[in-house]
Amino acid sequence: MHIFSQIGHVKAYLKEQRSSQSSIGLVPTMGALHAGHMSLIRASKSENTRTICSIYVNPAQFNNAEDLNKYPRTPDEDIRLLREAGCDAVFRPGDQDMYSYNHPLTFDFGALDKILEGEFRPGHFSGVALVVSKLFHIIQPDHAYFGQKDFQQFRIITRLTEELKFDITLVSVPIVREANGLAMSSRNIRLTEAERARAVALHRSLILTRDKLLQGEKFPDITKEVASLCNQHQVKLEYLALADRETLVLQEMVTDPVRLVILIAGWVGDVRLIDNLFLTED
Ligand code: AMP
Repeated sequence: MHIFSQIGHVKAYLKEQRSSQSSIGLVPTMGALHAGHMSLIRASKSENTRTICSIYVNPAQFNNAEDLNKYPRTPDEDIRLLREAGCDAVFRPGDQDMYSYNHPLTFDFGALDKILEGEFRPGHFSGVALVVSKLFHIIQPDHAYFGQKDFQQFRIITRLTEELKFDITLVSVPIVREANGLAMSSRNIRLTEAERARAVALHRSLILTRDKLLQGEKFPDITKEVASLCNQHQVKLEYLALADRETLVLQEMVTDPVRLVILIAGWVGDVRLIDNLFLTED
């Protein structure tokens, strides 16, 4: 497996790999890799001749300096997992490789980046869009793989790809969960055993919301039940929302179940977690 930190080196490698038959898959990550990331690598390997994983904890997408400092970093284990998964190359740039100026460019996605995560993490999606644009320009992949776990992020990157005319096919990969339903996340490393057990309240809230909506209960009533479920598990609920899967426009009631996704965010101790669930499976 090739490991690159310099942009020039990774570009030279990819130039050699490109041919009329080849196809390059990119899996952008922030490291502290887990089985969720590995399912993205597998998806890429099944569709491309070369898979490249980027590992970069992008300062521009953190609206909170403490969150950036505490973000888990497990570089040796990441390399071991990627080798084991048969990843072809890793791109691990430093801040000086990715950012030339102290004031990063900013993006504005209108309503799409003001709701949900955008409301609670101002500037987050601007930073995500910036780093993904840089990675797309540097790597120029044929396919790029993202997890359904960051649902709003996928919508933002879809818009970015359309607007900036990137010739890249985006692929959304289903959420990988722990046996108890907790969505895998690099941030889970920071949970104590007790917090990990309490964190299942997020997934349970999604299931409860889905089941009750499908039984015809009203969303505002369900929100109250979810608030109390989260309370019982000492999970500080930030939002529970129902939205259109394509436009992310927030909904108050179920009109067409196949179009809807339920999204949740909450704090377990000092760790912020997100999760989501489609109202009906595809
Ligand atoms: P991150 O390293 O957290 O920035 O995540 C890198 C990519 O992995 C993103 O596209 C995430 O949506 C995806 N990802 C993170 N957790 C999971 C999971 N549990 N299942 C599937 N994909 C995931």
